[in-house]
Amino acid sequence: MLPDIENLLKLQGADKEIRRLQDEIAEFPRRVAAIEQKLAGTKAQLEKAQASIKADEAARRKHETTITDFRGKISKYRDQSLDVKTNDQYKALLHEIQFAEKEIAATEDKILEIMVNADARDKEVKAAQAELKAETTEIEKEKEQARQRTAEDEKLLAEWRAKRDQMRAGVNEDLLRHYERVSKFRGTGISEVRDHKCMACQVMLRPQTYNEVRTGQQTVVCDSCQRILYFNPANEMVALEKSDVKRPRRHHPKIDAPQAWYFRESYADAGEVYLCLTNSPGQASRRVYEIHTGRMIGDVLIREGDYRHAFPEDITGAIRLNGDWSEEELDTWGTEAPMVVLDALLADLELARYEMSARTTAKHEAPVPTEQAAS
Ligand SMILES: [Zn+2]
Repeated sequence: MLPDIENLLKLQGADKEIRRLQDEIAEFPRRVAAIEQKLAGTKAQLEKAQASIKADEAARRKHETTITDFRGKISKYRDQSLDVKTNDQYKALLHEIQFAEKEIAATEDKILEIMVNADARDKEVKAAQAELKAETTEIEKEKEQARQRTAEDEKLLAEWRAKRDQMRAGVNEDLLRHYERVSKFRGTGISEVRDHKCMACQVMLRPQTYNEVRTGQQTVVCDSCQRILYFNPANEMVALEKSDVKRPRRHHPKIDAPQAWYFRESYADAGEVYLCLTNSPGQASRRVYEIHTGRMIGDVLIREGDYRHAFPEDITGAIRLNGDWSEEELDTWGTEAPMVVLDALLADLELARYEMSARTTAKHEAPVPTEQAAS
């Protein structure tokens, strides 16, 4: 993996953490507001209960005044009754006294009713007060926790920002600009490639782009989302295992086929290569191609006998692949194997590798597809 890519991955991790912390800090006032709204509800309930008690007390005072007034009237009528001259006058006063007494009794009932209710109202107020007290304590605790969390977040944020600045200094300037531009619009600026796909936008890569990312020689961006692409062989294996069901069964190359293709991880100074060995009557030919560019390495080599006996050193430790093209066709390629051939070989190589990993990881057997030299 290129150092720039490694640094960008760290940078992306830092950016993600910074965003998370910023979101959490922004959440703090919203949480406090929600807490306080809950508290306001309980306060309103308490105030309502207290207002009811006050209203009852005012009504009681009013009723008491009414009673006092009627009592005053009764005593006045009694005084007047001493001076009356006629029976009718006396009866009228008596009637007034009876009316006042009735009113006093009715008002006394109302006061009694208020007194009975007062007990219930008292209980309501006390309950609301207790609730408010409990909520206030709880809320202060929550607010304090949120405050502490925010303070910690802010400290972490400052640390991450400093780390990010350091990381930025470790990335090529043009690449950094590209990363930041894409991050700004898409949230992330770098994406992993797995199973020929950009994992961020899920678009399949062109075979050549895929090869370029895989070799990790240069930075490559996704044609579709513009994110910088990178390849992690460990994750690719996991992806292949997960997609096991959809994976086509690999056709195994025939042992006695007149042509055999092989993959070698290193070949002289050329790195990864494909070897094409072809039998013709009495002799065998060998062609070597660089796997990413298809460039032919060296000339066609011809030796006597079949290829197993003519090129044993090339076959040992190599991975056998499917491939069958006539010698005439191979000649028409000239010094470069066509992309379609490279794609077919690469697809087969991946299946072969997957089979090997499945054998070694699942069944704990030694990998078998590499060939042994003919004795
Ligand atoms: Zn993409």
